[in-house]
Amino acid sequence: MTLAKETASLLEKLGVARDALSGGDLVVHSPVTGEQIAALKSISAADAGKAIDAAHKAFQSWRLVPGPKRGELVRLLGEELRAHKDELGRLVSIEVGKIPSEGLGEVQEMIDICDFAVGLSRQLYGLTIATERPGHRMMETWHPLGVVGVISAFNFPVAVWSWNAALAFVCGDAVVWKPSEKTPLTALACEAIFNRAARRFGADAPAGLLQVLIGDRAAGEVLVDHPKVPLVSATGSTRMGREVGPRLAKRFARAVLELGGNNAGIVCPTADLDMALRAIAFGAMGTAGQRCTTLRRLFVHDSVYDALLPRLKKAYETVSVGNPLEGKALVGPLIDKAAFDNMQKALQEAQAHGGKVTGGKRVENGHPDAYYVHPALVEMPEQVSPVTEETFAPILYVMRYTDFDEALEQHNAVGAGLSSSIFTRDLQESERFLGVDGSDCGIANVNIGTSGAEIGGAFGGEKETGGGRESGSDAWKAYMRRATNTVNFSKALPLAQGVSFDI
Ligand code: NAD
Repeated sequence: MTLAKETASLLEKLGVARDALSGGDLVVHSPVTGEQIAALKSISAADAGKAIDAAHKAFQSWRLVPGPKRGELVRLLGEELRAHKDELGRLVSIEVGKIPSEGLGEVQEMIDICDFAVGLSRQLYGLTIATERPGHRMMETWHPLGVVGVISAFNFPVAVWSWNAALAFVCGDAVVWKPSEKTPLTALACEAIFNRAARRFGADAPAGLLQVLIGDRAAGEVLVDHPKVPLVSATGSTRMGREVGPRLAKRFARAVLELGGNNAGIVCPTADLDMALRAIAFGAMGTAGQRCTTLRRLFVHDSVYDALLPRLKKAYETVSVGNPLEGKALVGPLIDKAAFDNMQKALQEAQAHGGKVTGGKRVENGHPDAYYVHPALVEMPEQVSPVTEETFAPILYVMRYTDFDEALEQHNAVGAGLSSSIFTRDLQESERFLGVDGSDCGIANVNIGTSGAEIGGAFGGEKETGGGRESGSDAWKAYMRRATNTVNFSKALPLAQGVSFDI
């Protein structure tokens, strides 16, 4: 069976009609073989506007459904995802090229956030606040916000949607989703899965609660500029965030920006090198280096450099690269030719700056339009371009250090601020790293790699990563509006700060 046929059959099982998959202008390729697997129709700007209006209408009734009942819809969504985990995981592998356990892991993450959101639906707590005025009560309440726009990247084609959507739905919002133009099929699958959950939920789930805008950035721009979208959660490159952020600010809409990372690790003299090796290998080579949290820079203390590097090189030389659908490879393909070209360009630049490259070459597999590469390990004399930029491919730059403070300074000396880790058994070093003058990232780990976050924590990063937070902890607050309410149950009207105004 061709991949196109398998894709159509998986989508049909999930409830997506076959005739939606052909004859359109948006051609979808599988990076596994490079072959075309569908041609979808992009939405026009006018239809995107209508979809947003429909979502707004759905919001107006959905917000009146009590929070715990809204949680029931998300519970059903989680059930549907459990029932269709294999099909959706396989589709992720076909459309993005992830190895099976990562494709399934992505769906598991969706299930996890649904479980989290169901609990949250009974915990959208406000505060009761002490008031200086007698006979008064002051509190804050949280209300549904409106239509939440979600723009997602190709590399987590379904999990990022669920992080936003599961929270938005329990918070009483409607969702309009613009998936990556490289991965629209998994979005159609999620839409069908959600619609099944909504049908089971019944009439209280209004039509139009989830809208999917198939298309390129033009469809995303409609979402960004639409006055009925008070929040846009946009995941993608820093370049995209630089365009989207100011446009949202111009109309005072909220932005949750989840942008590029240039994540680093520090291997200290007391590190458990076995543990560090495994964490580095997964962090740097997993998902073919196409995670926002991929480990891209490594600072290794001089005293352990010569013990670690040969082992790391061996891991790079022996890692299995190949067709993820056959289930044996640990590293699948890059998403497309442009990703391969960017990787080669960065490696050439690194070499020009004295970098010594292990790996990085293309792996031929009989499919001229599929781009498999050996992950590259680059020993760099110092942190100069291209080390300071995110290249979305499996390149790990390794640098030696002797002084911890200098390593920390270099660690923080890049634009992005997403994820970071330190490998040490020295309490002073690990606490420094996690402390006020330590890692400047949104995620800072000890003896764990930079990637593979759990949904329970708030996810996101600082600086050019955009500052947004999604998923766990109190990230839900971005999806609601807060009102401070003061109730006077006395017979007088005392003014705050002792102000008198007697008429
Ligand atoms: P991309 O920026 O090319 O595209 C991301 C999405 O933004 C797509 O849906 C695209 O159509 C849309 N888009 C682009 N320009 C737009 C505009 N001007 N207006 C509205 N929408 C626009 O990113 P990509 O190549 O799909 O993904 C890789 C990038 O995403 C990497 O930089 C990676 O680090 C980042 N990423 C970040 C996170 C995170 O949580 N911080 C997670 C995943 C990926």
